[in-house]
This record gives sequence, structure tokens and C-alpha cells, in this order.
Amino acid sequence: MSEPIKTDVLIVGAGPCGLFAVFQLGLLDMKAHLVDILDKVGGQCAELYPEKPIYDIPGVPYVTAQGHVDALMAQIKPFGATFHLQEMVETVEKIGDPLFRITTDRGTVFEAKVVVVAAGGGSFQPKRPPIPGIEAYEGTSVYYAVRQIEALRGKRLLIVGGGDSALDWTLNLAPVASHLTLLHRRSEFRAAPDSVNKMMALVGEGKIDFVLGQVAALQGEGGRVAKAIVKRNDGSNFEIACDAILPFFGLTMKLGPVVNWGLKMTDGGLIPVDTAAFETSVPGIFAIGDISWYPGKLKLILSGFHEAALMAQKAHRYVYPDKRLVFQYTTSSTSLQKKLGVS
Ligand SMILES: Cc1cc2nc3c(=O)[nH]c(=O)nc-3n(C[C@H](O)[C@H](O)[C@H](O)COP(=O)(O)OP(=O)(O)OC[C@H]3O[C@@H](n4cnc5c(N)ncnc54)[C@H](O)[C@@H]3O)c2cc1C
Repeated sequence: MSEPIKTDVLIVGAGPCGLFAVFQLGLLDMKAHLVDILDKVGGQCAELYPEKPIYDIPGVPYVTAQGHVDALMAQIKPFGATFHLQEMVETVEKIGDPLFRITTDRGTVFEAKVVVVAAGGGSFQPKRPPIPGIEAYEGTSVYYAVRQIEALRGKRLLIVGGGDSALDWTLNLAPVASHLTLLHRRSEFRAAPDSVNKMMALVGEGKIDFVLGQVAALQGEGGRVAKAIVKRNDGSNFEIACDAILPFFGLTMKLGPVVNWGLKMTDGGLIPVDTAAFETSVPGIFAIGDISWYPGKLKLILSGFHEAALMAQKAHRYVYPDKRLVFQYTTSSTSLQKKLGVS
């Protein structure tokens, strides 16, 4: 086990509510680390609808979802939160009063006085393509995300899919792979037209191959794939020799490991909280944003922001049990303005 990273607060999920929690905690002098499974911050806003306009952020008549995430990142910059992306929080254990040990699927360990679960609809997880026996190759030669480009250098890569991830990784990995094939079941793409044009240009230059069809079976040994058997749309088969396969079939939201953290949950997989502090059934663990539940809960970004503000007030009691909290406005408090770097 690696040396634990000690922090006041560990936030599970870097969606809009996790991000705004950094602001509210920061105003009260609490430092935060955030962990998110995705390779970017912003949760549903960044992953599901970055270009869609949002019209109900208070005081902001119109902003795109990605624009809103960018604004939140600018707003929390003074507080220097640390982000651990492409990591999933797997376990949360109580080891003190209050002290929690949190571990991720990449072996990062944290010790935090407070845990804020801002896990939204749960963990985004890759959709597994319907290829018999694919599980045996996952993590050794079938990858649903690229964590280290260098690990793929010099390999024969087969990328499968027609969305933005498949096309982006085709473009990024083309210079790294010894040979790269993009496989998609049809000639229309969901990806940005600019990426499709760039991919087609690489095909034209003979740098990569693009083929139509679907992977029907994998062959290999000991978790190492050797070739994919591909079915053409006319039903005939052919083989593609490869060392690694990267299927990008989109993401689905699953509740994930949060069910094992000893928190009371509703039948619908939400975390009941009190509305005074948005604390869960375990003192010191809070839940805000879409994953929290209380009578009248609305799954709106603005609700999560309110929840973050009240959560921070109670979290302060755990992090600074001997300090009295004085309520202050950012407009008039010079001490808050100093923290924000504006005076
Ligand atoms: C198409 C669409 C349009 C919408 N429009 C609006 C709108 O106009 N106005 C509005 O207010 N709301 C809108 N919403 C809802 C809004 O996006 C959500 O309310 C908001 O994203 C909730 O934020 P969150 O931070 O709670 O969770 P999320 O945005 O879901 O973020 C949670 C994050 O937690 C991460 N996570 C989960 N489990 C783990 C784990 N174990 N380890 C590490 N990371 C984990 C996930 O990867 C994710 O990034 C819309 C939603 C959709 C899908």
C-alpha cells in the first residue's frame, strides 16, 4: 500500500457539485483532494452534454455545460485543490474519530477527516462490447481507456468505435502505434466531423487503416490477444492481427463501489442525508449533488451548490473542532477576499 496522502477533505467525484464544494470548503480553510473516474473534470456536464446550453444557473442567463465547468474551475483556482483523474474510489473505511482511509483502484490511499460523496449518478463505466470471452483480455490487452500512451508504443492497435473517443484516440495513437486499424460498423460517425476528416486524411496517406465490420471473436493466450476475427456487414469474416484492442462504445452510469461504504442507501441507490448539513448516516461522510436524497430533492446543479455550502459549515467542525466559525460575506470580508486573492 502506498504512503497515504493526508488531506482535510476527500471529494469523490469532480462533477459540478464536487467542484463547487472545493470553493465552499476553501473559504473555510479546508483543503481538498478530488478523485474522478473520468479523464476530465465536470461530471455529466463535461461527459454527456458539454455543448448544450444551461439556462438555470442563478445569475447566469446562458452558459454551455462545458463553459460552466470552465467557470467553476476558474472560481476554485485560488484554493489549489488536487485532482486525481482516471481513478475510481473503491473503499472508504472509518479509522478514527473522525478519520477515514480512502483507496482507489490505482492504489492511491488518502487519509481524510471528512469525505464528501459527490458521485452523481454513480461511476461512469465503459460499455463492454458483446464479444464472447473479452473479459479474459481486459486490462492486459483490451483497454477501455488509455492511461499511459507509452505502454502502447510500437504495438499493433485495433481501435473500435465511431464516436469522439474512438476518433480522438485514433488520431493521438497513430504516431505511436506500429500499425493502427480503426474498425467501425458503418461509414457514418458520431464523432466531430473535423476528427473524421483528419482520420480519413491519415487513411489516404497510408498511415492507418479504416475498415467496416464488427469484432465477432478474439484469439490469443494468457490474456494476450493475437488477432480479432471481424465480421463484415455481408456476413463474411476476416482477421486483424493486433497486440491491443481499444473498444470505445460509450459510457454507462453504474452506482459502483459506493454501495459498499457502509452508508444507508435508498432502494433507488441514492444516499439519504439530513437537510441541515447533508451528512449521511455515517458522521463525517457527506453526500451532495445528484447522489444525495432528501424529501423534495431536485437533481439540479443549483441544489448541489446549496448542499455544498451547508456541508462545508458542518465539515468545519470536524476539521477544526476547536475553532468557532464566523459567518462572513465575500463582498465585505477582507479575510475571505485574501483567500480568493482579490485583495
Ligand atoms: C442532458 C442533460 C442535461 C441537463 N441539463 C441540466 C440543466 O439545464 N440544469 C441543471 O441544473 N442540471 C441539468 N442536468 C443535471 C446536472 O448535469 C446534474 O444535476 C449534475 O451534473 C449533478 O452534478 P454532480 O456533481 O452531483 O454529479 P455528476 O455530474 O454526475 O458528477 C459525478 C462524478 O462522480 C464521479 N464518480 C462517481 N463515482 C465515483 C467513484 N467511485 N470514484 C471516483 N469518481 C466517481 C463520476 O465519474 C462523475 O464525474 C442535466 C443532465 C443531463 C444528463
